[in-house]
Amino acid sequence: STQQPVQYLTVLHTNDNHGRFWHNEAGEYGMAARKTLVEQLRNEARAQGHAVLLLSGGDINTGIPESDLQQAEPDFKGMSLIGYDAMAIGNHEFDNPLSVLDKQQQWANFPLLSANIYDKTTTSPRFKQYSIFKQNNLTIAVIGLTTTDTAKIGNPQYIGGLDFRDPISVTAQLVPTIKQQYNPDITIAITHMGHYVDASYGINAPGDVTLARSLPTGMLDMVIGGHSQEPVCMAANNKIDSRFAAGKECLPDQQNGTWIMQAHEWGKYVGKAEFKLENGQLSLLNYALLPVNLHLEKQAEGDNKPPQFANEYIQPDEELQEFLAVYQAKGAKQIAGKIGSVDAKLEGDRNKVRYQQTNLARVIIQAQMDSVGADFGIISGGGIRDSIAAGEVSYKDILKVHPFKNRITYIDWQGQELFDYLTQVTAFPPDAGAYLQYHKLSFKHNQGHLEQVFINDQPLDLTKTYRMSINSYNASGGDGYPVLTNKAGFVSTDNTDANALKRFFENNSPVKAADYAAK
Ligand code: ATP
Ligand code: ZN
Repeated sequence: STQQPVQYLTVLHTNDNHGRFWHNEAGEYGMAARKTLVEQLRNEARAQGHAVLLLSGGDINTGIPESDLQQAEPDFKGMSLIGYDAMAIGNHEFDNPLSVLDKQQQWANFPLLSANIYDKTTTSPRFKQYSIFKQNNLTIAVIGLTTTDTAKIGNPQYIGGLDFRDPISVTAQLVPTIKQQYNPDITIAITHMGHYVDASYGINAPGDVTLARSLPTGMLDMVIGGHSQEPVCMAANNKIDSRFAAGKECLPDQQNGTWIMQAHEWGKYVGKAEFKLENGQLSLLNYALLPVNLHLEKQAEGDNKPPQFANEYIQPDEELQEFLAVYQAKGAKQIAGKIGSVDAKLEGDRNKVRYQQTNLARVIIQAQMDSVGADFGIISGGGIRDSIAAGEVSYKDILKVHPFKNRITYIDWQGQELFDYLTQVTAFPPDAGAYLQYHKLSFKHNQGHLEQVFINDQPLDLTKTYRMSINSYNASGGDGYPVLTNKAGFVSTDNTDANALKRFFENNSPVKAADYAAK
């Protein structure tokens, strides 16, 4: 038999872009510098005769107002210009209606992959499941996978028609059929499922480690992941290297014959993995997480030296920088300028809003109540995505709190029905996105029973009708809240949560934070 020549593959990867097409104020990361780095790595690899793939672990959407306001158009077009070959569809790709995701696929010149999302009506895969790449004499299969947690944390308004199937069984069925049809030399899963050390996924859906362990040994050669937004750098078997920092060495995880790699978040790093394929054996020659103009941490308190980059400065690609600057300017223009002010911090930290009542939650709910004339209101704590600092408030500050473009809805209902509903939603435990934030409502829990319910300081009257404000996410079942959208008395308005909060600051500034202190 003829000996196959030795083949080489370089895989470059990023994940969890979350709207970071532009660099931050300190000049860190950004797609233009990423392009320079990727081109250099790609050229070096090709000069050595390597096949090269550039892959993303998904979550391109949501996080930066300049991107969110433009439906991540600069991000998808930027990725196309950098030359991505494929990406996994992440849970945040469902923060917009499916029509937007379909448009994003049009903006991208590479496939958005997910093998385990099915259309409930047609029972067919809703997205392209995999791509086959042929470079040099290599055939490479790339399969996309999406966390089943999307069904839980995604927006029910947009994902109701989708079935998020178990990625493990989907992969176990799909890979053999791909092997039969294409006989790939290398099989890669690009996933948005999270890397949980030693498969300790806790309350999350199973992630990459469980996937690799559950499949036949080596069925996947590698997993290029996302979602947990950590650098996957190991100190030993099933032990994370907590000392990893920009510029340091990184050893990826390996489970059951499958390499698992993830490049933190936001394009802070480009992961680079060089593989050799010889006699059917794939081996990792070297691996690195290459920082994209990240600053080194300060060595000591009071160190006033200008920040040092962890890498030799990467000059941003001029053409891409100019292309993206137009979007950056357009986005910035829409959100700059003072819309109001507040005299103290409004608390929206995720370690607060998912545990206790906060002043920002009360301001948000008051804004929503005002916009629909409600007696009281609620939202789930996880929907509050940032704090508002004391001082001037801009639309940008508002959009950081409310990136999701939820609509304000309300329901008029009888005290008894309301009481039953409140019994359910007041029982959500802390430390979860579902944790209830409420305003103009008070109650006591006594051995699982709801007692002493007051609305606007009046005892709840079971025969009276009350109006409750709530956003469209929770009203349609988001965070496991009971569905209200099909009830009599339910009304959905066109006003968004961000708009209501903006209007509130315009009408009530300077806002006194103490007026909204949690009692
Ligand atoms: P990822 O890790 O993929 O970035 P994430 O950061 O959104 O996801 P969590 O931090 O666990 O994941 O946040 C999930 C919570 O965010 C949900 O429990 C919910 O409270 C809130 N959330 C998600 N989508 C929406 C939405 N469209 N509207 C309002 N709240 C949302
Ligand atoms: Zn995610």
